[in-house]
Parts: sequence; C-alpha cells; structure tokens
Amino acid sequence: MTYINQLVCVNCGRSYGEDESINYCPICGFQSGILDVQYDYLAVEKICNPTAFKKNSNFSMWRYLPLLPLQGMVGIQHLQVGWTPLYESRNLAGELGVARCFIKDDGRNPTASLKDRASAIGVAKAMEYKAECIACASTGNAASSLAGFAAAAGLPAVIFVPQRAPKAKVAQLLVFGAKVFSVQGTYDQAWELCMQSSGEFGWYSRNCAVNPYLIEGKKTVALELVEQLLYQYDGAVPDWVVVTVGDGCTVGGVWKGLTEMYRLGFLTKLPKILGVQAQGCRPFVTAWHDNTRKLLPVEANTLADSIAVGHPRNFQKGMNAVLESQGAFIAVDDDDILWSMTTLARKAAVFGEPAGVAGIAGVKQAVKQGIIDKNESVGIIVTGNGLKDIESAIKGGGVVHKIEPDIEAVRSYVK
Ligand SMILES: *Cc1c(COP(=O)(O)O)cnc(C)c1O
Repeated sequence: MTYINQLVCVNCGRSYGEDESINYCPICGFQSGILDVQYDYLAVEKICNPTAFKKNSNFSMWRYLPLLPLQGMVGIQHLQVGWTPLYESRNLAGELGVARCFIKDDGRNPTASLKDRASAIGVAKAMEYKAECIACASTGNAASSLAGFAAAAGLPAVIFVPQRAPKAKVAQLLVFGAKVFSVQGTYDQAWELCMQSSGEFGWYSRNCAVNPYLIEGKKTVALELVEQLLYQYDGAVPDWVVVTVGDGCTVGGVWKGLTEMYRLGFLTKLPKILGVQAQGCRPFVTAWHDNTRKLLPVEANTLADSIAVGHPRNFQKGMNAVLESQGAFIAVDDDDILWSMTTLARKAAVFGEPAGVAGIAGVKQAVKQGIIDKNESVGIIVTGNGLKDIESAIKGGGVVHKIEPDIEAVRSYVK
C-alpha cells in the first residue's frame, strides 16, 4: 500500500486515483498535463515527524518511504542512494558575500548525481509494474543513473542521449550495459524520439517530467537537507535554497520536499528558491521576467550539458517552485560556471560538474543584484560530480607545468 491520496494535473486541476495507472493527464496530454502525487498527510504525519524520525536508523532516501509512491520495498535495489553529505563552508560564504553557506553534495550518490534519487524510484516502479524494459532520454545523468539502477535490478535499459553528452557519462552507460542511442541532434529531439519509441515498443518511461513518480524521488534531497540542518546545525534554515534548472523537475521536487517538511513540523519557515540557469539556455529566466510567465522554447547553448534544455518538460512545476516561494530565477554565463567549479573546489573542496555548481555563480550574481542580502544564508545543492565532465574541469582549472625530470626545472618554476 501507499499513502497516496490522488494525482492532480498541474494544468487543469483534475484529480485521478493511483489505481488508474496513468502517467499524465489524459485531457491535457503529456506536454502540459503533468501530474502531482499527493499523500494523506494526516496519516503520514503519525510516522513522519521530528520525534519519530530521531529514531529512524535508515540513512538513505528510503527513510522517507511513507512519502514515496512505492507499494513497499520489493523494487528497491541494493545501492546506497541519498543521505549525501551536508557541509557548511565559511570560506565560500565569505567569497560569495553571504552570512552562511551550506553545500549539499549530491554528487556523492551511486552514479554520482542527484538523478539517482529519481532513477531509484523509476526502476522500483518498473519492477512493481513488471515491466520488461525501461527507457529514458537524458542529457547524460538521468541516463547513467538509470543504467546503474537497471543493472542492479537486472532490467534491460534503452537510453537516448544527445550527441553532446560528455564522454564520462556515456562511459557509465556502456559499463552498466544499457542499449545506447546517441541521437545526432539535441536533447529535445532525443526526448521526443524516446517518447515515441516507448509508446511503440511498450517500454516503461523514466522521463522525469512525464512520469509523475520520479520527482518524488528528487524531493528527498530537500527532505534530507532539512533533517541534516536540524541535527548538524541546530535547525538553521537557510533563507535561500539554490538549485540549477533544466527541465524543472529538480527545482520542483526541492520545493515540494521543503513544503512537506514544513507541513510535517520539521521546518518553521520556508526558504525562498533561487533557480539558476545558463545564459545560453534560460527559458525559465525569460518567462519569469515576462509577466505572461509563458514558456518559449529556445535553442540550448551552454557547456553545462545537464541543464542544456531548450524545451523544459516540467515548466509549470519549476515555475511554481520559484513563484510560490517568492524566490527568483537568475542566469549565469559559461565563464561564471567555470569560475563556480574552481571556486567551490578551492573554497569548500567539493568538485562538481558545470550544471552541478552553477548555483555558486548564481548566488554571487544574486547578491550583486540585491536579490540576496548579505545578511542572508544560502543552501546550495550540488547536483552532479565533477569527474563527469573533466573537459570543462580542465578548461576552468588552469594549466599544468610540463617539465623535465630534473630538480633544476622545478627550481625555475618555484623561484
Ligand atoms: C538533471 C540535472 C539538473 C537539472 O534538473 P532538471 O530536473 O532537469 O531541472 C541539474 N544538474 C545536474 C547535474 C543534472 O544532472
């Protein structure tokens, strides 16, 4: 059994039962009829509350099982996912000009990105449905994480990636044994092709926006953040939680997780959300500045491949996260993103990939623009590990000194 009450369409508000086995609102269609999973919080509250959780000894995302859309433990794989480290960095706070700075390092998941939280749910659901194959389109991380969790479950996986996916992510796919289609086109084209193929061949779809259960996995990063702040930092609540935005599922999930923790009595005030995009791909930022708040798909052009999403598939949930929290969207350019990589690494010793770290530059920019006050604190979610894209890392990192194996050569540099 689950604690799910209903699934509600974010576009038209119609509600559906869990037993109707639908992935999106049949009236609105999958482009806009994204469903939101809602729980019986009065029942959940009895087992998920600050007192009960002090005794919860499961330190992984599965400690939140009553807030997840699974029938039980059957589809859950052996991999350790979630309960990633939370750090406070005074050096980084100083660099960014804010009061306090917390870093949640979600690159420390089994396949090295936050996407593992969603894939863990996707594969568990596929096992519940007794699916024979699972598919997804991805800028890279959703794919590598799906491949990992599918391997754990012994479930065949078919992956569509755009041609620009970094090599390390493709290597993960191949090692985990997925069938990989490198679509000679954009992520958006890969996504359409995956949807079409899943329909035709009956594959279970892990595409995060369309499959309403996956964002439930992503929200666990916020559930953890709140609990860790409680135990490690005396319940400090950052004024801002900072998330990078591609399709909008992560930021939507983070906001949902925060509101659930508020509702369940773990939080006394809600942080604002800062959604960060790349200048070369900023459909959320543009829509947010425009009063109509309408999505205009763009061509993506940024080295932060994981957020190179010109046509966000979870636009409404992503937009709602920032609007409801009275937060802001902001864009940073690629040079700022490379600066973020080295700054996070040098000030806090956390190595993130470009889309994982863009929030660092986002905070800096937001302080400069007066969006974030110098007396405010921030919690930045680092969504992916830096080893996923070493080309960008080297680009931002500086130069190595090639020398002869001779102490004289060292002296000439050190002097
Ligand atoms: C997928 C991803 C994001 C963005 O998540 P969306 O749900 O697409 O908005 C950010 N950073 C990394 C590292 C990612 O893999």
